[in-house]
Amino acid sequence: MADKVNSLPFFYGNITREESEEYLRQAGMVNGSYLLRQSRNYLGGFALSVSYTRQCYHYTIEREPNYTYAIAGGKSHKNPVDLIDYHSQEMDGLVCLLKKPCNRPKNMQPKVGPFEDLKEKLIRDYVKQTWNLQGAALEQAIISQRPQLEKLIATTAHEKMPWFHGTITREEAEPRLQNGTRTNGKFLLRQRDVSGSFALCLLHEGLVNHYRIDKDKAGKLSIPDGKKFDTLWQLVEHYSYKPDGLLRVLTEPCARPEGESGKHNPTINGSATGGFFSRLRNYSVPIPGRKKVAVQLETHPIPRMVFISSLEAMPMDTEVYESPYADPDELRTSAVDRSHLFLEDGELGSGNFGTVIKGIYKMRKTEKPVAVKILKNNDNNPGMREEMLREANVMQQLDNPYIVRMIGICEAENLMLVMELAELGPLNKFLQKNKHITVKNITELVHQVSMGMKYLEEHNFVHRDLAARNVLLVTQHYAKISDFGLSKALAEEENYYKAKGHGKWPVKWYAPECMNYFKFSCKSDVWSFGVLMWEAYSYGQKPYKGMKGNDVMQMIESDQRMDAPANCPSEMYEIMRKCWTYKADERPGFKVVEPRLREYYYDIAQ
Ligand code: AMP
Repeated sequence: MADKVNSLPFFYGNITREESEEYLRQAGMVNGSYLLRQSRNYLGGFALSVSYTRQCYHYTIEREPNYTYAIAGGKSHKNPVDLIDYHSQEMDGLVCLLKKPCNRPKNMQPKVGPFEDLKEKLIRDYVKQTWNLQGAALEQAIISQRPQLEKLIATTAHEKMPWFHGTITREEAEPRLQNGTRTNGKFLLRQRDVSGSFALCLLHEGLVNHYRIDKDKAGKLSIPDGKKFDTLWQLVEHYSYKPDGLLRVLTEPCARPEGESGKHNPTINGSATGGFFSRLRNYSVPIPGRKKVAVQLETHPIPRMVFISSLEAMPMDTEVYESPYADPDELRTSAVDRSHLFLEDGELGSGNFGTVIKGIYKMRKTEKPVAVKILKNNDNNPGMREEMLREANVMQQLDNPYIVRMIGICEAENLMLVMELAELGPLNKFLQKNKHITVKNITELVHQVSMGMKYLEEHNFVHRDLAARNVLLVTQHYAKISDFGLSKALAEEENYYKAKGHGKWPVKWYAPECMNYFKFSCKSDVWSFGVLMWEAYSYGQKPYKGMKGNDVMQMIESDQRMDAPANCPSEMYEIMRKCWTYKADERPGFKVVEPRLREYYYDIAQ
């Protein structure tokens, strides 16, 4: 959304109400002249400024929980542009119809708020420090979790600001403001108590005034009877240009003493090692399969929205985000020592080879929960053995957070393939059982699959069996591609694999060129990905229900495709249709599909 709105000529970015009035004035205060700006108090929201009878009117456009936009109490729209289009036809509560966009002066870009500049660096530092990631793992974490990270950072960034002094008392605050320059408007913020209330301390005519900042049930922050804000830094920004009930505007931030971070007072919350990043995720709840689950302390002054979102573990919180061999102290070996492998009772699933069982693999430094694929009837099954070794060989060459990694092969009572554990199992089954999963959540997962597939495409591998049943879930928010039984590494000079004959193929997932010419490429994986998307948005239904393989082929040849699943966003169905482009050459690659999914995911998640 941000990108789309940024390119609108009448979008001004982070300008104040007064600045917007100035622009409308310069444009002649024509009736129905309007501009759009970023909301300075609601995260992700906008403000619409309109001139009518030589006056300016301002409307807040809030982003609603179901990713729609509305002027408070008004009709919901998919995006701010639709809202503006609507109000150019219907007044519906507005002072007049929107008639003429008041465009930005030439060469003026939408104004970037102070936080936007900081944000990128904060996100990067946060991911680096919290999960100790670097290189590709760091980049992939930021790409896949940007909306969650932005929320987390936005609502805690105040701790990085020099004016935030943590949990100091009123008595401690006063000398800090009185020391040094005693400029009118010098200010600091402190945390009052552990229930999320703060105070703004403002120096005016030599005296320190303390204003309480309370958090309401919805997590909005405000000075009693004052304007409400999502974050403290928005509040500070607002009162820095407008007194709005205070004795005067905020002028000079009173910097906290050197060496002190904006953390909670250790004596109050017991977090002696505080500091910005560790404070964000300082409360661990052990949940199986998770590295560390971060939960905001309920007492932390963060709106509820973030409290909830941080409860949802991110892929980086799990044990399977990075390869176990990313740690240089772990011996990189494809041979797993049987005495280090402990198999548990109970089956995770079964496939052609035999069963898949849960186990624990003791490594040098850690113990990993693993999934172990066990080949049945070892001796009288040489073909199967070969196949399993081929699968292991492919998996061994891959290392991506969105692909199930092989940890090693164990030759013991049976041939065993030891893999990362994705305990929640196949995506199609999970969605069949969990109809409450949101479209946003599904989009997050299919986007992750597209990231894994983009990696395969970049490394010249074809999967050849991409389907929702072969996407395994580590958590509700973390998907990995699995089952490389049919996969091939492409020869450097080829961009497709030619099968020698027709095998037991998942016909409903195969592109026409696979069926007609036995040709398999990353583009045919894209076709399968379209079917996988269809399965995901239809909550694990079978594609082409009740149809035989031949009928499906005929349907495709006669240029028909599956309809969109019920309630599937049109943007996502459009991508599916692109994936089902008949000619492989004209079909997009994952290089194109992944950013398109990403864009839509950010749009609905931010
Ligand atoms: P496959 O033979 O690869 O099709 O695996 C058969 C079934 O075993 C899958 O459908 C999953 O239910 C389960 N399974 C396979 N690999 C894993 C894994 N790495 N983690 C958890 N379950 C798995």
